[in-house]
Amino acid sequence: MSNFTPTNTIPTSVLASAPTSGPTFGSASGPGPIATGQPAKKQPRIIAIANQKGGVGKTTTAINLGTGLAAIGRRVLVVDLDPQGNASTGLGIDRRNRTVSSYDVLMGEATVTEAQVATAIPGLSIIPSTVDLTGAELELIDMPRRAYRLRDALAAVAAETDEGFDYVLIDSPPSLNLLTVNALVAAKSVLVPLQCEFFALEGLSMLMSTIERIRKGFNADLEIQGVVLTMYDKRNNLSDQVAEDVRGFLGDKVYKTIIPRNVRVSEAPSHGKPALVYDHKCAGSLAYMQLASEMLRRERLDAAA
Ligand code: ATP
Ligand code: MG
Repeated sequence: MSNFTPTNTIPTSVLASAPTSGPTFGSASGPGPIATGQPAKKQPRIIAIANQKGGVGKTTTAINLGTGLAAIGRRVLVVDLDPQGNASTGLGIDRRNRTVSSYDVLMGEATVTEAQVATAIPGLSIIPSTVDLTGAELELIDMPRRAYRLRDALAAVAAETDEGFDYVLIDSPPSLNLLTVNALVAAKSVLVPLQCEFFALEGLSMLMSTIERIRKGFNADLEIQGVVLTMYDKRNNLSDQVAEDVRGFLGDKVYKTIIPRNVRVSEAPSHGKPALVYDHKCAGSLAYMQLASEMLRRERLDAAA
C-alpha cells in the first residue's frame, strides 16, 4: 500500500457525507423511482469502469466495449468522467466540439440530454470531458449531494425520455476521488479492467474496500459487473500467472474473454476511432466484440436465475 498517493484514497470527509435520511437525500441507496403514475420505464444499466491504477485499459474498454454493444444493437452512452478526456478523443470528439461537458452536468449547468453528442458509431453517444473537470473536485466539495451529482443527472434523463439508453458506461479517472465516487454512486455495477502484470492484484483490494464503503454509505445495490483482464501477452509467462491468480481470487467474476495486448488497439485513439472501427479484424477488436457478447450472455443468465 506504500505506493499509493493521497489521490488514491477517498477522503474520509467525502465518505462521511453519506446521507442517512430525510426528503432531500433519501436513503443510503439514494432516492427511489419517481412516482409518475406511468408504467415503469426501462432503466439503462449504468456501469462504472473503474480502477485507481493508471493505464490499465479503462478508457480503451469504455470505448471498445461501448462500440461492441452498439454493434450488437444496444444504445450506449459513454460518460467521460476523466479530465484527461481520452475517451472523448478516442471517440473522435474534437476539443473544439466539447462545448457542453461532463463538468457542466456535475455542476448542474447542463442536463445529460444537453451534454451528449453523437459519435460516428450509430447507437453510441458520449458526454465528453474537458480540463474543467480538473477543478470539479474542489468545487463539488461544498455542493449539496456532492456524491450524487451524476446519479441525479442520469435519473432525471431516465425519467424524462422514453427513448433512453440500454447502457451507460462511465469512464473514471485513475484515482479514487470524488469523480470516481460520483461514478460508483451513479452505477448499478462496476467493471474492473485489470492489466496482466505483476502488480495487478495490488490495489484491487483497495478498490474492493472502496466499493464496500460506497455500498454501505451511498449505493447499497452496487454490484461487481465483472473483471476483465487486459493487455495479455501470450509470450510472457507472467501474464498466465497473473490471469490464474486473479481467477483464484475473484472466481467467476472474471470474464472468460481476455483482451490481448495488440498494437492496433493502441494506434486507434490517435485516429479518433475505436479499435473496432480502425481495424475490426485485429485480435484486440475481436476480443472486445467477444467481451460485449459475454457480458450480454451473463446478464441474460443472471436475469433468468
Ligand atoms: P488512465 O488510468 O490514464 O485513464 P486507462 O486505464 O484508461 O488509463 P487506457 O488509456 O485505456 O488505460 O490504456 C493505457 C494505454 O495502453 C493506452 O496508450 C492504450 O492505447 C494502451 N492499450 C490499452 N489496451 C491495450 C491493448 N489491449 N493493447 C495494446 N495497447 C493497449
Ligand atoms: Mg483512462
